[in-house]
Amino acid sequence: MREFNAVVLGAGGVGKSALTVRFVRDVFVENYDPTIEEEYRRNIEVDGQLYSLEVLDTAGAEQFTALNEVYMKSGRGFILVFSLTQEASLREVDNLRQQIYRVKGGNTDVPIVVVGTKMDLVNEREVQRNTIQDLATRWALPFYETSAKRNWHVNEVFEDLVRQMRDRYPAD
Ligand code: GDP
Ligand code: MG
Repeated sequence: MREFNAVVLGAGGVGKSALTVRFVRDVFVENYDPTIEEEYRRNIEVDGQLYSLEVLDTAGAEQFTALNEVYMKSGRGFILVFSLTQEASLREVDNLRQQIYRVKGGNTDVPIVVVGTKMDLVNEREVQRNTIQDLATRWALPFYETSAKRNWHVNEVFEDLVRQMRDRYPAD
């Protein structure tokens, strides 16, 4: 079975842990400790093939620190998370995206998925679909709107990333 790793990055409170734990444990955690950084592993089937995926849920408090750079160096795929209810968190995604490319030595051929969370909080929504659609087009990155609470489109995110990693990294 081929193995890949994914690093989940984004501002604090956007729902990185909720998304990760929904994917690996299929439950919604309401109050996950924001300081906890944890590595999970789950098998995932993509196009009839089983993959082992390691997911690193970062604590989100160390933007632009050496630690982030370490994760970016060792990460093969990245999930850049913002909250649809918090416009400012989208700018953090842009920063992280650029930082990844810098850390990868200017290489933009890096598997990345952009994820907007908390899709269920319709009344608190600040980021409109066309805004993120335009940005994702400009960045040439796939993007998904999700809800970890309702389990909307969570698996698609990870499947997309595995597909990108499968195509980007030839079997070693
Ligand atoms: P992190 O700091 O990025 O890891 O964010 P968390 O995963 O800890 O989530 C921060 C807060 O947002 C928590 O109170 C979660 O319950 C809430 N949250 C996360 N995802 C969702 C979601 O999909 N829907 C709703 N309604 N709340 C969410
Ligand atoms: Mg967290």
